[in-house]
Amino acid sequence: MSEFDQEDKIYHEGTDELVCPYCGNQFQDCFELPECCDDVECGECGKHFTYETYVTRTFTSKKADCLNGSPHEWREPRVYDKYTVKYCRACGKREETKI
Ligand SMILES: [Zn+2]
Ligand SMILES: [Zn+2]
Repeated sequence: MSEFDQEDKIYHEGTDELVCPYCGNQFQDCFELPECCDDVECGECGKHFTYETYVTRTFTSKKADCLNGSPHEWREPRVYDKYTVKYCRACGKREETKI
């Protein structure tokens, strides 16, 4: 087995946890690590390496029936001096009403 094949077996790209590219050691508490680091020492094999990480973008979508022809779902209006303000729970629309 060549050295290249051996290196290929260590999954260190796009991993959930920081993995030593030399020995495959998985680092714990990765959430405490900064976004990138140009010198990390592996506690397992003692070799130094670098890493980069990316914040994963996630989406949270919600139904908004009022954007599809249904009435808005108004929250309890907040009352100010001369007007009340209410927000739609679903789409966030803001409506002012003069008192
Ligand atoms: Zn290592
Ligand atoms: Zn709405």
